[in-house]
Amino acid sequence: MKPVARSHKLDNVCYDIRGPIAAQARKMEDEGHRILKLNIGNPAPFGFEAPDDIVKDVIHNLPTSQGYSDSTGIYGARVAVMQYYQQMEVKNLRISDVFIGNGVSEMIMMSMQALLNNGDEVLLPAPDYPLWTAAVSLSSGTPVHYRCDEQADWFPDLDDIKSKITSRTRAIVLINPNNPTGAVYSKALLEDIVALAQEHGLVIFSDEIYDKILYDGHQHTCIASLTDDVFVVTLSGLSKNYRVAGFRAGWLVVSGNKRIAADYIEGLNILSSMRMCANVPCQTAIQTALGGYQSIQNLVNEGGRLRQQRDITYDMLNQIEGVHCVKPKGAMYCFARVEAARFNISNDEKMIFDLLNSEKILLVHGRAFNLNEGIYFRLVFLPHTDILKPALSKINNFFSRYQQV
Ligand code: PLP
Repeated sequence: MKPVARSHKLDNVCYDIRGPIAAQARKMEDEGHRILKLNIGNPAPFGFEAPDDIVKDVIHNLPTSQGYSDSTGIYGARVAVMQYYQQMEVKNLRISDVFIGNGVSEMIMMSMQALLNNGDEVLLPAPDYPLWTAAVSLSSGTPVHYRCDEQADWFPDLDDIKSKITSRTRAIVLINPNNPTGAVYSKALLEDIVALAQEHGLVIFSDEIYDKILYDGHQHTCIASLTDDVFVVTLSGLSKNYRVAGFRAGWLVVSGNKRIAADYIEGLNILSSMRMCANVPCQTAIQTALGGYQSIQNLVNEGGRLRQQRDITYDMLNQIEGVHCVKPKGAMYCFARVEAARFNISNDEKMIFDLLNSEKILLVHGRAFNLNEGIYFRLVFLPHTDILKPALSKINNFFSRYQQV
């Protein structure tokens, strides 16, 4: 019998956040070990509860949500999303500009599938949220990574972006606030990116799923509010701001120069119809979430739980000899650099594997975010401080005696 092989489309696809090291952690759990999993940004297992009104709303609407909805989403959710971006001063929005999906993940896939032909290039940040790179590859595109500069608060390096634009470049992806670095981009930087996109005829894809998870008074600018001339696709959802990752509720909004993108938008409509619609009961939560009390503020403001956890993690990581971390301004991750020479490290994945075996703590290595230089790891700071503190002490102990062989 002929072996059943996977498609070559998967050759360049990696999603190591849930990859081989996570599989090893599961194996260790099966053997009876307790593993502290700091690899996935999933708030609920760490005791972050969703706002009550959202959960009640889904329960209330469940009996009447048995049929498919319109493939682009239920009316109330789309109006709420449209108004959300109107409040952010995105101009000329209509309800037909909003597509509701099963989380941002589905919309990332759809947004790339609708755009790319063989060999079309998409500029992506390095480090990135790896689903973006995977989606480009799976859609027959070519991912081209631009450098984000650790010395400049992990802001994208504009010169590097310019040097990588070719006649095949179709789009640039931004993740703002950023996973994994926690960077929050300034309005001035976003204006420069708009200018670049305009000059080279690029579409801007902006993943803003952490747009309310901001610390120290940092402000988020929605790049779509800065341009009428460039075609912009903005993505966000309920997973992080409202702590309901399991509900799979997300959206995509098209704005700016929609006239030049009528064909692409029709492509999005075709792909939306092909998967019928997003999960209907959870679509009902979108209007309630966006219009309700924004309890995320209590978590990120001074004294708030997430803010405290960010502070402890940042402080304790930087106390480790040979480990350095830029302070995250947003999101729920610390992305730390390890001095490779000090620990004789050539393989970041092995470092994370060794940490897992020795301390029973699961992190994600830098290469998993398509960063092919230096030695880095990402840590999710979602657990309570009484769990984070001993975990960070263990990580400190680990590095105090670590030498890679
Ligand atoms: N985009 C970014 C930057 C993320 O960090 C994540 C999840 O961690 C997603 C998208 C996926 O979100 P969703 O749960 O809406 O699919």
